Amino acid sequence: VPEQQDQVAVAPVPQGRPIPAVLGADLEVPVKGGKLVGYANLDYAASAPCLEPVSAAVAAALPAYSSVHRGAGYASQLTTARYEQARHTVRAFAGARPDDAVIFTRNTTDATNLLARCLPDGTTVVVFDTEHHASLLPWKQAVRLAPPAFPGEAVRAADEALAGIDGPKLLVVTAASNVTGELWPIAALAHIAHRHGARILVDAAQLVPHRPINLTALDLDYVAFSGHKLYAPFGAGVLLGRRDWLAGGEPYLKGGGAVRAVGHADEGTDWHEDPEPRHEAGTPNVLGAIALAAACDALTATGWTALVKEEERLIARLRAGLASIAGVRELSLWGPAHPRVGIVSFTVDGHSAREVAELLSGEYGIGVRDGKFCAHPFVRHLLGTADGGCEDDTASAVRASIGIGSTQEHVDRLIEALRELAAR
Ligand code: PLP
Repeated sequence: VPEQQDQVAVAPVPQGRPIPAVLGADLEVPVKGGKLVGYANLDYAASAPCLEPVSAAVAAALPAYSSVHRGAGYASQLTTARYEQARHTVRAFAGARPDDAVIFTRNTTDATNLLARCLPDGTTVVVFDTEHHASLLPWKQAVRLAPPAFPGEAVRAADEALAGIDGPKLLVVTAASNVTGELWPIAALAHIAHRHGARILVDAAQLVPHRPINLTALDLDYVAFSGHKLYAPFGAGVLLGRRDWLAGGEPYLKGGGAVRAVGHADEGTDWHEDPEPRHEAGTPNVLGAIALAAACDALTATGWTALVKEEERLIARLRAGLASIAGVRELSLWGPAHPRVGIVSFTVDGHSAREVAELLSGEYGIGVRDGKFCAHPFVRHLLGTADGGCEDDTASAVRASIGIGSTQEHVDRLIEALRELAAR
């Protein structure tokens, strides 16, 4: 079993369009003394800015929309076509199998919770303590594994844990950490899961803005991600994967759209078995789905080679800059050489994370995130601290994250600002 990250490229599609622009690139923000400076947004891992083609796709859908699926009117038919096209686009983007379900959700958290409700009775979930809370918490019955010391250890620990479990089992793992950006060996973990008759859910929230994912090639059972981290505005995410558990699960929301027929009280309700209508009751977030799909299209049209090259140039510069400042320590599970996406978390000796984030914003116009990034056990492990909860600032770190629209000037400004802060 390979120990290293083993992502594969998505099937070739026409690529090579220039990297699209993001909205708000010229935003100016006030800093100390009332001066305005260009905003250095280094908080992409929380929510990435909207791509121009995404904004254009939403604007194009606005003049004629109506509710999907049941209306005979032109606007309703057009909206239905756009919504189903969005599903098709997201399926292709994620390399899902033709018979996989593609369910639009509100976000990744919604997607993991939806799957949690559909697990067959008695399913045991195996999950590492390194997960974001969205993937750590939804499970009724979970075996929690300690952060592995190296990627092969993750595979070994999953192997051992899955071997000891009878009945249905699900391995849940992130593809790219929201704390360290480190890539996980998801193909190797999928292989191990299947060897034990288990399934795997991959939390791809932080992977898909930076690298391709392919359910078919990687042999993944379920994948979840969010539009708002993928350069689309808020409100839409997706769960993709095998239909049977999703068809058997209790409808996620109960209401119109999820049912074929509803009788009088003594006649019962005939729920759709197809996962898409079954779990998408109520009027869906059509514009969110259109935005999510437009982001998928925009990334595919640019091509991963160009996107990854620019990201790696900037993140290497950022990490080298951090390493050059005495008192600044980067958090890492598997060491500085392990491959990662454009996310880096660090601490600054003598300064709390909150203080650093506020100074960066108030004095330099730089937006970063501070805290535990909804991954309390993992950040505790990396910092070697006890958990004092969300408000405990001594057990927190600062996170800088980049993507399309990030510039060398943003990175250099952060490094210079941290150099000044560290010297204070
Ligand atoms: N998983 C990972 C790895 C994340 O980084 C996040 C968000 O920070 C989530 C899940 C949850 O995403 P959402 O807030 O869109 O549900």
